[in-house]
Amino acid sequence: MGVLFDTMRQRKVAKNAALLVQLNDALFSKRSKAFLMYLSALPPESTTKMYDPLLKLLICSWATPSSELTTQFTEYLGLVLALMQIDMFSIEAPLEQQLALKLLRICRDLYKDVSPQNYSIQLLYYYVKLLYVREATADFKRTYIDLCKKFVYFFEHKGATHAKEQWFMDLLVFFQRLQMLLHQSSNKPPLDIFWQQLEGDDSPEVYTAHFQLLHGCLGLTVNVVRSPLGTSCSNEACKSIRRHCLLSFGMCALEAYVNWQPTTEQKSDKAPYKPLLGILGYTLDVAKSMKCLGPSAMELDKLVRLLALVAEKVACPEQMSLVLAFLEPLQHLRPLIASQKMLSVLLRIYKASVHCKSSDMANRLQSTYLAAQTNPSRLRSQLFVHYHNANNTEKCVYEWHESSPMPNPLTPAQKKQLYDVDLLAVLHFQSALPVPLLQSLLRCRHNDYHLVLLARKMRTDSEVVRQCEELRSQLQSTALKQPLSRMQQLAIGHTSIAGFAAFFERADQEPLGCDDTPIDWEALIDDAVAAAMALSTMGYMAQADEAWLLILRIGQMLDERFTYLRALTHFLGQDHLNSNQQLQLSEEVDRAQELLDDLWPQLQNGWFFKRQHTIVMLCLCHMASYYSRQDCLCHAQLLLLQAEELRAQFDERVGKSDIVQITIQTVRFRLDYLRKKRCSSLPRRPLPLRQLDTLVDSVRNYCTVSSVDLGALQLLLPDLVRESTECAANRLTERFAFYGTTLNLVLQSGMALRTIEVLISWLWMNLQNEYLDQAQSKLRLLDHLLAIKPLSRTLVEQTSAKYIPAIATKEDLKANAMSELTSNMLQNQLYVATLKSLPMHEPIPTSHQLQRYVSKQGMPPHLRDSMQLQCIYFIVGCLHARFSFLKRETDQLDDFYVGAGNWLQEDTVRTATLGSMLIVHELHHVNYLRFRKKHKDALSYAEAGLKSVYQTADINYSFNLMVQMKTARLELHPVGKARAKTIRRALAFNTSPEDKRRKGVVEGTTKAKSSARKTSRFKIYTELELRPPIGCSNSSSSSSKSGNENTPPSDHVDLNACQTIEISDDDAASVSASTPAPSQLKRSQSVPAKATKTRSARIGSQLKVPEIIELDDTMEETPSTSSAASVKRYPTSDARSTRARNRQLEETPATTRGRPRRKVPEPAPQQETVSLRRRQRN
Ligand SMILES: [Zn+2]
Repeated sequence: MGVLFDTMRQRKVAKNAALLVQLNDALFSKRSKAFLMYLSALPPESTTKMYDPLLKLLICSWATPSSELTTQFTEYLGLVLALMQIDMFSIEAPLEQQLALKLLRICRDLYKDVSPQNYSIQLLYYYVKLLYVREATADFKRTYIDLCKKFVYFFEHKGATHAKEQWFMDLLVFFQRLQMLLHQSSNKPPLDIFWQQLEGDDSPEVYTAHFQLLHGCLGLTVNVVRSPLGTSCSNEACKSIRRHCLLSFGMCALEAYVNWQPTTEQKSDKAPYKPLLGILGYTLDVAKSMKCLGPSAMELDKLVRLLALVAEKVACPEQMSLVLAFLEPLQHLRPLIASQKMLSVLLRIYKASVHCKSSDMANRLQSTYLAAQTNPSRLRSQLFVHYHNANNTEKCVYEWHESSPMPNPLTPAQKKQLYDVDLLAVLHFQSALPVPLLQSLLRCRHNDYHLVLLARKMRTDSEVVRQCEELRSQLQSTALKQPLSRMQQLAIGHTSIAGFAAFFERADQEPLGCDDTPIDWEALIDDAVAAAMALSTMGYMAQADEAWLLILRIGQMLDERFTYLRALTHFLGQDHLNSNQQLQLSEEVDRAQELLDDLWPQLQNGWFFKRQHTIVMLCLCHMASYYSRQDCLCHAQLLLLQAEELRAQFDERVGKSDIVQITIQTVRFRLDYLRKKRCSSLPRRPLPLRQLDTLVDSVRNYCTVSSVDLGALQLLLPDLVRESTECAANRLTERFAFYGTTLNLVLQSGMALRTIEVLISWLWMNLQNEYLDQAQSKLRLLDHLLAIKPLSRTLVEQTSAKYIPAIATKEDLKANAMSELTSNMLQNQLYVATLKSLPMHEPIPTSHQLQRYVSKQGMPPHLRDSMQLQCIYFIVGCLHARFSFLKRETDQLDDFYVGAGNWLQEDTVRTATLGSMLIVHELHHVNYLRFRKKHKDALSYAEAGLKSVYQTADINYSFNLMVQMKTARLELHPVGKARAKTIRRALAFNTSPEDKRRKGVVEGTTKAKSSARKTSRFKIYTELELRPPIGCSNSSSSSSKSGNENTPPSDHVDLNACQTIEISDDDAASVSASTPAPSQLKRSQSVPAKATKTRSARIGSQLKVPEIIELDDTMEETPSTSSAASVKRYPTSDARSTRARNRQLEETPATTRGRPRRKVPEPAPQQETVSLRRRQRN
């Protein structure tokens, strides 16, 4: 071909135009890139032989007319492009041959006089010349900037005129393809030299020029319609050269920008960004409208990659401005972009967002990436990281995403998932949650469950609370019409535990739908435990049992060990398990022991919270009480020892009176005072009353170590009140220690039921000590709290009946204290809500007052469904009956005890829950029967009562019943006159103070009589102390011997000579003389001094009783050495009783005793009200 070209030139064959067309078709412009690469791979020494003659031939103009040259323009440009590629692709010496540059030089000469192409050819020549530069040049940047500016100027001025001419379109397409060649090899030889020279100083300037050039091209390319140089799109719907040309320019610019490596200072130079933003606008607008861009299009792929790189490059707000510019168009293209690729773009945008000037925008962009995560566990971990940043507290990710400039196209299910995971991430992030974040979540919530979960953390927000209450009442009214769904039950569960149970019970029947909100089990457990704690603390035992059982099951199912142990602890400590419950405690204990064996050795390793230490140790303690009930006393003791040793390992507990310490002491106290036989293998413990004193001190010095401590103490205190009362009452001493603390606590928390329990204990204690005044005040409060009698009315009655102006000043103190207590009580009336609208019961005739506690007629409505409340009414009734008995107002008692008997038979389960109060009732009943001379009835009731005393009851109940039985027998079959007195003496047990006082009046004569007959007082006294228990235990087994055991061993002992028990002698007489005459009462009131004397005597005798019984315990074990043992142990008991007696005498002035002296304040309530007042003042 070289020969041919030479010949053509020599022969002046002026066919250049046709030759060009043919060459381009066959060899160059129209051939593929691969073909051109093949050409460039041919050895230069061979190809030169063709190219040189060709170029020489093309130099010859043959005086071609300019019009012809104009039409040939495209062919020349096409050849330039082809030659340039051949130059570039050469492996041995790229760009060395400079074929394209040589051709352009020829063209420059050819078109020298052809306007307007001549100037553009010149510019192109210089431009390509710069591309061919093979080494660094000093003023390269200056030259390039100058050239770019000239181009821009040319485009601006000529573009307007020639834009629609073919040659101009061809020029633009040529330039676009040139740029593609330039940018495609921006970082590899041979054009890398060009790009390297743009870096360094002044590089922002040179890049600005470069981008301005491309921007100028873009502006004119919009006019391109057709060009043989452009490759038309193969897509039928597109076929547009213009759009692809525009896109190509845009991507070149992005490529240049991405590869540019400005210094930090250069980055903030705003100049280059301006043309770039323009280019981005053109490019993406075109991309949006291109019909050929599908998910598989190479160009789209490249564009997305470039945009990702632009985002990755962001290191300053200026660079961020580019990202912000492409967000909206990118969102348009999004359906075409594969999700993984999009995610990588979003990730880069997410990282770039820190350079946003607007924090709102930054948040929106971050939320976009986070929300794009469709894998829940990935999303969850990403959200945790997000909220770890303390700045991200303004809005939740979900809400930010809603306002994002490029929101993810989420399905409704995905949106719900996003919200759910977002919500859980926030709720579990930390304990103190930022309110704006919660409010944001609240705004975006999808369902009611979300509301209740959020409301848990926003309890102080009145609006949220209002919404919750609305929801609850709404759901409750729905529940009346149709069964609630599981999720509705769960929602209501967070406001009442019953919903949790309904939710949990239906777990298998009704699977949660896939679009259901994931359950926040942690929140569920938290709220369930809180509800169960509240129910336990308030004393609603049946409901608390159900709640704890539910938690036990949930804890078991979720393998939440501490939750499980905590729930189990609730049941371990109970004397009687509710038989309705499907709880096999022995199985659970086995399971818990495995858990504990695993847990307790690990407690010290620092992995656990203090509250978890507490839970484990408390479980050990209560397991000890469980084992003691199972008669495994040794095991119980060992468990307590283990708890004690474990506790000693924690420095924060040593030397402190924490809940574990108090619980250990409590369980020890129970173990010791409840157990029937002394276990000889175990170390001797102090007597129960002494342990009680220790316990009182511990509670007084209580300190909190962990978050569960106070709750546990609040649960323990009511039990302590009841047990200490029982223990003290059965031993005829006073222990008021826990009343004040507990009453304070329950009043502050507004716990009506607990208040009632404390008052019942207190009332019992007052009755046992026959403080009738004080008992009456308790009874009045109880009647009020139980909605039997309004307090105000009784107060008015009391005031009008009792107050005398003369002593009013003295009364003021108590009146004030009383009214304060009243106002507290009014707030604490049982079921305040219902009772506000419920009128107090009609005042009933006094003659039927007692009946109402045990009768179904006139039963308050709130009593019908609650066995617990029915029991409380019953107990208060029993104590009221006792009160009436002590006051000798016996008119209603027959009816009452018949009613009580019926009540007890009505429901055996309910009767069983009365516990030891049933025995107390029996004791009072037998006592009353004896008073009525119904000795046979008394005997049978006492025997029945004795059988009903359960194993773990205080042993003193049995002895008290036996004493009653024994006395009843003696009364039934008196043995001689002398012995009759002895029998009567036994009646001294639980006699009313008035009788004694009356006795005191006639004491002088009695004393005179008895002293005449007395022998050795001490001896008889001792005898009597020792005898009854033996007699009791024997008589219960053999009734044939009845009456003999209590009889003094020999007839020569004159029991009537006993001065200390002279009361009973007269007592028997007065009791038999039915109700005391009013005149007698008045007389007794007028002689307080004598009453005191008799009282102390009575106390003396009373105090002996329990001590004797304690001794009997030993004697049963070793009957042969009974007297020896009793003598040995006597001093201890005596010391105790003396101490107790002394204390009692100190604490309660003698003048306070007796019915008519109710004006004198009772010490304990006085303190109580004072402390209440002090608190209010504070
Ligand atoms: Zn296309």
